[in-house]
Amino acid sequence: MKLRLLSLYPDQMNIYADRGNILFLQHRCEWRGIDFEVTRCGPGDRFDPGDHDLLYMGGGQDRDQKAVAGDLIESKQASMRAAKEGGAAILAVCGGYQLLGESYELEGETIEGLGLVDLKTVREPGPRLIGPVAIEVDLDGEPKVLAGFENHGGRTRLGNCSPLGKVIHGHGNNGEDGFEGVREDNLIGTYLHGPLLPKNAWLADHLIATGLEHHHGERPELEPLDDGLEDAAHRAALTAARKG
Ligand code: GLN
Repeated sequence: MKLRLLSLYPDQMNIYADRGNILFLQHRCEWRGIDFEVTRCGPGDRFDPGDHDLLYMGGGQDRDQKAVAGDLIESKQASMRAAKEGGAAILAVCGGYQLLGESYELEGETIEGLGLVDLKTVREPGPRLIGPVAIEVDLDGEPKVLAGFENHGGRTRLGNCSPLGKVIHGHGNNGEDGFEGVREDNLIGTYLHGPLLPKNAWLADHLIATGLEHHHGERPELEPLDDGLEDAAHRAALTAARKG
């Protein structure tokens, strides 16, 4: 078996070393004897949606988002749409998450997004939404907890689409409605960034299984791994979120 990951703007959209999530996916595949391929997709690059099982875009500052947004639409929008419709897994974090939506409005300027999901982000007056966060998520018919860290000035509001989860601790999409992230088909957008996957190994495995299903047509039963360290990291993140 082989998982083919596409890393979107690895140099531009990587504000909290979000690329560590890719290393984590790679190790979990290799520990199980699953081949892992990473293709970098930067400014100007195009891709064939059938060639990739998991698309990943990390977080970025406003200026990084401005730098890639035009290129994202011009050279990648059609392939991103086709990849989503074809059932590829998509994970977009923070600034990458905002760019999946219709637009990001800030200081009199509007950055146009990919329009893959019905959501909008606006930089409203008020403090940045920063801190440890925990959310309850149900991806496989069994509620689980994601624990991590958020840091965003933009407030995201969902239109006709579902949140990834409900906020247990922290701010979430906008600090008001109690929701975090977005989920549609096999696309996930979230504000939880930095080492999201090492702290939440179950989400990494969910993405791996979804990607392998995309490539091989059948959802595999993944071999369990020794997650002692990952579980400890999850507990520490959750404890931090509980304390606020
Ligand atoms: N620039 C965006 C915001 O501040 C996203 C930030 C990020 O990716 N950490 O809302």
